[in-house]
Amino acid sequence: MQWEVVVGLEIHTQLLTQSKLFSGASITFGSAPNSQACAVDLALPGVLPVLNRGVVELAVKFGLSIDARINSPSIFARKNYFYPDLPKGYQISQFELPIIEGGQINIQTGKNNEEDGKLINITRAHLEEDAGKSLHEDFHGMTGIDLNRAGTPLLEIVSEPDMRSSAEAVAFAKKIHTLVRWLGISDGNMEEGSFRCDANVSVRRLGDDKLGTRREIKNLNSFRYLQQAIEYEAEFQKYILESGGEIKQATVLFDSDKRETHVMRTKEDAHDYRYFPDPDLLPLIISPDWIEEIRKSMVEPPDLCFSRFIDSKIYSNGKPTYALSKYDASMLTADIDIANYFEKVVEIIGRKEAKLCANWVIGEVAALLNQDNKNITASPVSPQQLAELILRICDGTISGKTAKDVFSAMWDEENCASADEIIKIKGLKQISNSDEITKLVDMVIIDNPQQVADFCRGKEKAFNSLVGQVMKATKGKANPSQVNDILKERLNKNS
Ligand code: ADP
Ligand code: MG
Repeated sequence: MQWEVVVGLEIHTQLLTQSKLFSGASITFGSAPNSQACAVDLALPGVLPVLNRGVVELAVKFGLSIDARINSPSIFARKNYFYPDLPKGYQISQFELPIIEGGQINIQTGKNNEEDGKLINITRAHLEEDAGKSLHEDFHGMTGIDLNRAGTPLLEIVSEPDMRSSAEAVAFAKKIHTLVRWLGISDGNMEEGSFRCDANVSVRRLGDDKLGTRREIKNLNSFRYLQQAIEYEAEFQKYILESGGEIKQATVLFDSDKRETHVMRTKEDAHDYRYFPDPDLLPLIISPDWIEEIRKSMVEPPDLCFSRFIDSKIYSNGKPTYALSKYDASMLTADIDIANYFEKVVEIIGRKEAKLCANWVIGEVAALLNQDNKNITASPVSPQQLAELILRICDGTISGKTAKDVFSAMWDEENCASADEIIKIKGLKQISNSDEITKLVDMVIIDNPQQVADFCRGKEKAFNSLVGQVMKATKGKANPSQVNDILKERLNKNS
C-alpha cells in the first residue's frame, strides 16, 4: 500500500533580548539556579507583567521577513495548566489573535539546491513565555525547581501541514533556523534550548483528501533527531494502520538512544487549557509608523542575498553580484556571518575572482572552522588576511596548492601572521623565472632518456612523469603551467 507522510512543525525560538518577556530579569544562559528570577517570574502576589518592547520589535522583523500579516491589536492570553515549574498556574501566550499570521517560507530539498523550491505556508507566529525547569539531579532524591528560564521570551512559529517527508521538515526547520539567526532575532542555539521543534506527524493513503490523525513529537533539539523521529513515527503509524489498528491523537517523546517514540500523554485540546485574555495586559497595538521604522532597520533578507549571489548583473539593489552557482550561493548564505565574511574578501580582491574566493570560504575556511568547532566570527584568519593570501595566488607568487599550506600555517599562528611573512619565512615563493625553469627542465630531460623516448613514441603519461620530476626538483615551487610550456617546447626541439 502507498502511504503519504504529512508533517506540520511548531518551532519555539528564543528571542535575543537582555531581559524577559514581562519582567526585567536577565536571561543570560548558565547562571546559578534561581539567580535570575524576580518577583514577577516567581508569581508572588500583587505583581503585574509589563511587556518588553524589544520583543515586539523582533517578532515584527520575523513577520515582515516572511511577508506575513502583523496583527494590531494582538491579544495576550492565559493558557492554564498545572506544573511545578509554572508557579502562576498559567503561561502567558497568544491564542485567538497572535502577533503574526500567514506568510510563507521557500524550501529546497533537491540535491545541491539546483531544483526549484517548494513553498511552505506559515499559519501563525505568536509570543509566549517559557516555563521554568525541574532539576532531577543532585538533590538527594528530591527534585528542584529552577525558575531562571521562566518568562524567557519565545516566538512560536506554526506551519501548515504542508511537508510530505522528514527531508522537507528538516529543510523547513533549517530554513527557519538560518532566518532567525540572519535577522538577529535569535541565536538559534539548539544545545542551550534556544531553538526546539515539535513535529506533528500523520500518514494517509496516497490520494486521500482527508488528513490522518496526528501524533505530536515534543521538543526535538537537533535536526538529526527531527529527521529520525519523523521517520520512526511514520513507519510506526503505517504499521498500526496496516495491521487494522487506529491512531489515537497523542503527544509523544522521542528516545534518541532507542530511536523510538513513546506516548507522554493523550492529546489535550485547546479547550482543556481554558484560554482567556489576560486581564493584566492590554491589547498590543503596533502603529504602522513603528512597523515602517522596523522595516527600514532590517538587513537584506537571506533569499534576496542568495539571488544576488547567483545574479550576473553587476549590481542588484545597489549591491554587487557574483554570478556564483546555486550550490556555492546556498553554502555562503547558510549564515549571515559567512555571507559577510565572503563579501569582505571579494571586496578586496575584486568581483572577477568571486568564484575563487567562494571556493576558499566554502572549502579551506569552513573545513578548519569545522575542525576547531568555531563560528566564522571567531576565525583566526580575518577576511583581510585571507584576501592577501588569495591575491598571492592571483599574481602567481604561489600556487593554489602551496596556498593551502600557507593558510593552515596562518590559522595555527598565535597572532595570525600575514601570508607574505609566511611565504618569505618558509621560502615558498613560486619559481616563475623561465631561465631557471628551463635549466631544470633540461637537466630532467638529460637524466631521463627512457621517458623522453617514450614521449616521442606518443606516450602522454611519460610527459606527466617528467613534469612531476621538475616539480619534485623544486619542492613543488615551480609554476606548473610554465613547467608544462617549457617542457613541451624543449621536447619538441629534441624530437
Ligand atoms: P495544537 O498543537 O496546539 O493542537 P494545531 O491543532 O493548530 O495546534 O496544530 C499544530 C500543528 O499540527 C500545526 O503545525 C499543523 O500544521 C499540524 N497539523 C495539524 N493537523 C495535522 C495532521 N493531520 N497531520 C500532520 N500535522 C498536522
Ligand atoms: Mg502543539
